Amino acid sequence: MYINGKWVGNELEKTEVVNPSTQQIVGTVPEGGRKEATLAVDAAHEAFKTWSKKTADERSSLLYRWYELIDENKEEMATLMTKEQGKPYQEAYGEVNYANGFIKWYAEEAKRIYGDTIPASQSDKRIIVQKQPVGVAAVITPWNFPAAMITRKVGPALAAGCTVVIKPAEQTPLTAIMLAELAEEAGIPAGVVNVVTGEASDIGKAWLDDKRVRKLTFTGSTPVGKLLMEGSARTLKKVSLELGGQAPLIVMDDADIDQAVEGAVQSKYRNAGQTCVCSNRMYVHESIAEPFAEKMAKAVENLTVGDGLEEGVTIGPLIDEDAIEKVEKHVEDAKAKGAKIVSGGVRHEKGDLFYTPTVIMNATEDMLCMTEETFGPVAPIATFKTDEEAIERANDTDFGLAAYVFTKDLSRAFRISEALEYGIVGVNDGVPSTPQAPFGGMKESGIGREGGYYGIEEFLEIKYTSFKI
Ligand code: ADP
Repeated sequence: MYINGKWVGNELEKTEVVNPSTQQIVGTVPEGGRKEATLAVDAAHEAFKTWSKKTADERSSLLYRWYELIDENKEEMATLMTKEQGKPYQEAYGEVNYANGFIKWYAEEAKRIYGDTIPASQSDKRIIVQKQPVGVAAVITPWNFPAAMITRKVGPALAAGCTVVIKPAEQTPLTAIMLAELAEEAGIPAGVVNVVTGEASDIGKAWLDDKRVRKLTFTGSTPVGKLLMEGSARTLKKVSLELGGQAPLIVMDDADIDQAVEGAVQSKYRNAGQTCVCSNRMYVHESIAEPFAEKMAKAVENLTVGDGLEEGVTIGPLIDEDAIEKVEKHVEDAKAKGAKIVSGGVRHEKGDLFYTPTVIMNATEDMLCMTEETFGPVAPIATFKTDEEAIERANDTDFGLAAYVFTKDLSRAFRISEALEYGIVGVNDGVPSTPQAPFGGMKESGIGREGGYYGIEEFLEIKYTSFKI
């Protein structure tokens, strides 16, 4: 663990990090708990006093140096990520670049935290509005994007003048540790970035109870997000939550089918279907459903399943046994309820955690794969008749993170995009995430936005000063 600029934890029990492709041990991390979590807050609280007083330019330079070091070490970081998380090396490499894009963006954005002056209604008064860092931020992240979920939070936090305590996912702590090593090498002062590994609920509770932690930023499941929001209420922390999704992908009758298939494959099978913006259910106009499904089947048969470090592999393993069992359950349930398996539908011979990319036809709303986040490489296809029907079915969920629509009709694209109750809409685009744009969900998919100039606001307080002159 990295606490107050020191590497600590040798005396603690160790937890193994296991490669989901090979089941080999990639490394071990110490099993920290309440004590270490509190020491990290002590350090972050102390460091906040000086970090928040640095000029924007000074913070920007340090972030920029961190960006350069990550860039210089991206092959090594991508290899480590593939080993602990399983995603194919090319994807891991892409994630490191994406993750680093947030550090670069916020190195720049640090210099643009503007305030306001507002004309007062009294001639002897002046109204000044400033933005100030909220304080120590607790950062809790999932395993599916071991680097990007950290930088998307830590980049804006540090740029704003906040210090952070990070708890990476237990499955993927090594990438987080490598990021912290590079932050140290970049000269980011002791206590500004702290990483604690170990028992999630103990660490989480220590941070929720601690009133010095003024901000909680979390990416993970909706149930845990709700728990953390409830816990944050005790000390009324500022909260950002990026939670589950249930993304619909709509293909209109006028869509370019090849473009729609390409977008659907990108959005569905990235990270073996384990991203919160992965399309979960596909609604295809009944007039083109057959050719769409055929082309999908062909496209997924061209995907190569295997260990992400092997040349040419495009689909890695699922993260653990629970994950693959959920996928299996969704497919079996769909079959039992009358769906037709067009491709896949079984585990893959490569190993215990590998699942064959799957395409399902005749999906209906009573199937689990249409109502729950599958988080695996399964594309259920349902058909619809009218735009209104597609919109209604797409919105009929408690979630609202990402949605996709494929059409060549611009007016239709606007109408549908505006009607979708989702924080992110990809129009003819299967991969909308990028550091410059706001990422986040509506409804039970979360609160707040990450990325772009919006992302930094989550780490800022607004201070209004009234001057009587
Ligand atoms: P996932 O299904 O992606 O594993 P989780 O919500 O379970 O999603 O986990 C996301 C992150 O939240 C992980 O870092 C995990 O350790 C952490 N986490 C899980 N439960 C708690 C908790 N009770 N308090 C704090 N953090 C938690």
